[in-house]
This record gives sequence, structure tokens and C-alpha cells, in this order.
Amino acid sequence: MINMKDFILSVINEIKSNFVPQRVTYEISGHCLKCGKCCNYMYSYDTYTEKEFKFMQFLFPTYKRFYIKGKDAEGNLIFACKLVTEDGLCSDYKNRPAMCRKYPAKRILYPAKLHEGCGYKVNIKTFEDYLTSQKK
Ligand code: SF4
Ligand code: SF4
Repeated sequence: MINMKDFILSVINEIKSNFVPQRVTYEISGHCLKCGKCCNYMYSYDTYTEKEFKFMQFLFPTYKRFYIKGKDAEGNLIFACKLVTEDGLCSDYKNRPAMCRKYPAKRILYPAKLHEGCGYKVNIKTFEDYLTSQKK
């Protein structure tokens, strides 16, 4: 059950997470190899506890498809989706959330890595890249 204090704290954290100064832009190439790793093993940049996760599910019912799979060595929550098949495919492909449609995102708040063996490649765009593109 979510109490008022948790509710207010979660709203504050959710708002704060939109003002994180660090943003990374990637150039993305390649394609999906349908291994299903990204549906079976995910991190969140603003959900640190089970309570926060429950609250996010309450706020965004589409997150009910996700569950907490465990924690990594640093104690960060690892999430997975209930709708990925044993073959690594999405069983609700037409209705998959925007975050799945956009994966891997071109612009994110923190530096991130793709799963080993993922068919996509990401290259961080530096400020120098930006200046070079402006000169052309
Ligand atoms: S980890 Fe990469 S290759 Fe595997 S399903 Fe996700 S996007 Fe596709
Ligand atoms: S909704 Fe589909 S694409 Fe999104 S995480 Fe679940 S199985 Fe993967």
C-alpha cells in the first residue's frame, strides 16, 4: 500500500530526475538481432527501491508488465518484462510502450551500455563532432 509520504517523495524524485544536467547523445547504427536481452535485463535511472517501482506502476499502468528480477553487485534494481517470450520476442509487439519502440534511445540522461552481443552500435557524439558538422 502506498502512503502519502511515499507518494510525495516519489513525485519529487520523478520531477528531479528531469533536471539531471548530464545528457548523452548517441549515434546509433545496426539492427536488432532479437536476442531478447534488453527485455530480460533493464535498469531504471530513477527507480531505486521496490516502493518507488510500485509507485511508478501506479502512476504508469503500462509498467505493470515489468517486474523486479534482482539486484546487481551495487544494489541497483534489475527489471525484466513479463511479456518477452522464451525465444526473446515481444508477445505484445503492437502495443509495446514508447520506451520499447525507441530503444536504443538516441538521447539519454546517463551514459549507458548496450547488452553484449546486441546488434546495435552506439557512438557518443562529442562537442567536437558537433563543431565539425557545423563547418561542413
Ligand atoms: S539486446 Fe539488442 S539485439 Fe537483443 S533484442 Fe535488444 S535490441 Fe535486439
Ligand atoms: S513490452 Fe515487449 S518490447 Fe517491451 S520490454 Fe516487454 S517484451 Fe520487450
